[in-house]
Amino acid sequence: TQACLTAIEGADALNAYVHKTPEIALERAAAADARLKEGEAPAMCGLPIGVKDLFCTQGVDSQAASNILQGFKPEYESTVTQNLKDAGAVMLGKLNMDEFAMGSSNESSAYGAAVNPWKREGDDTQLTPGGSSGGSAAAVAADLCLAATGTDTGGSIRQPAAFTGTVGIKPTYGRCSRWGIVSYASSLDQAGPMTKSVRDAAIMLEAMAGHDAKDSTSADLAVPNFEALLTGDIRGKKVGIPREYRVDGMPDSVERLWNEGAEMLKAAGAEVVDISLPHTEYALPAYYVIAPAEASSNLARYDGVRYGQRSALDAGDGITEMYEKSRAAGFGPEVQRRIMIGTYVLSAGFYDAYYNRARKVRSLIKKDFEDAFAAGVDVILAPATPSAAFGLGEKASADPVEMYLMDIFTVTLNLAGLPGVALPVGTNSQGLPMGLQMIGKPWEEGDLLNTAYALE
Ligand code: GLN
Repeated sequence: TQACLTAIEGADALNAYVHKTPEIALERAAAADARLKEGEAPAMCGLPIGVKDLFCTQGVDSQAASNILQGFKPEYESTVTQNLKDAGAVMLGKLNMDEFAMGSSNESSAYGAAVNPWKREGDDTQLTPGGSSGGSAAAVAADLCLAATGTDTGGSIRQPAAFTGTVGIKPTYGRCSRWGIVSYASSLDQAGPMTKSVRDAAIMLEAMAGHDAKDSTSADLAVPNFEALLTGDIRGKKVGIPREYRVDGMPDSVERLWNEGAEMLKAAGAEVVDISLPHTEYALPAYYVIAPAEASSNLARYDGVRYGQRSALDAGDGITEMYEKSRAAGFGPEVQRRIMIGTYVLSAGFYDAYYNRARKVRSLIKKDFEDAFAAGVDVILAPATPSAAFGLGEKASADPVEMYLMDIFTVTLNLAGLPGVALPVGTNSQGLPMGLQMIGKPWEEGDLLNTAYALE
């Protein structure tokens, strides 16, 4: 804990931590020491971690990187962070992210972007750590914690993991409680660990997961000992390579990495087969209807009354002006865009054309995966991202769709509720880490992590 606190003090340039909690860290580290002395050794005992700002942490600023939640210190602790605390983990502070987890580069944060500790060889350009869990990824990659929590609605654990050479798993929808995590798109959101290795991810996921009566979508299933399932034996496993993920314009480096990954799994005894997930091309458009629709509803609660910031009012302003002024000042441009898109696709005249249609597409995407698994595939191997980390400012252009295209390989499994892991497999010609992604069957995170372990 001390070593991490010192490292954090020297790493302000990465802008990874947005609220530091050294007193809490030292107190919890001392409590962990005491537990160890008493012969108690819970799984995460004394392990210093960072927590994404999206998690409500009791008495500690929890702002979802938004100005509208400025000064919000929840009176309660999210179930996931409580589970980690109970397992002995030590919170070092809250980590940067895109505002309300909307983004793929951390650039929509009210605190400014987090910075990737990696640089291209011979080039000093600052790179994005990805998003929305960019602070988590940067902190793990730069040794500013041993592990961090992330959340993944459409790739926000896996894409930043791929951009920083770290490991991230988005569990099956319902594996981790969403209670106390600021909602973005409730039917897609899942929490998961971001770590330095597959083994660490297995240990931390077990500590985070479990049924919670406070989240009706949390599954009442026993949580396996994921670490014990890491045998590295994947002989006879069937790995599917989805042909629809070979998109136009895919860089050679990504294609090469993907092929190498398949060869490595084959060498470890897996059978690699081509598969088809025919509705893949509709995933991104469906996601960018469903996620904003749910967000527009979830974010209605930030009204200037119940939480955080309320704008100054003029004489004669009524409640409508109070809502308008507070929301206009409190939400950043990307969040406002999502609220407008979401409100539009849910409006009476367009509901069937957009929202209902996107829901039907979602069912088809889910069925694609079900068919592949029913045909005997155990795990699906795909790229995590269409490129390595890009420069800050490079894609924050006038066209937001350019940023949305970053999510092309990640949103599919959120729509289907499936678990997915991203892990570093190689580097590109500029020395940047490159990640691959594996997608598993529902509730088979153990099998998924074990296949990732064989590739690590
Ligand atoms: N980049 C995606 C979005 O902006 C995913 C975000 C996430 O997974 N939280 O919606």
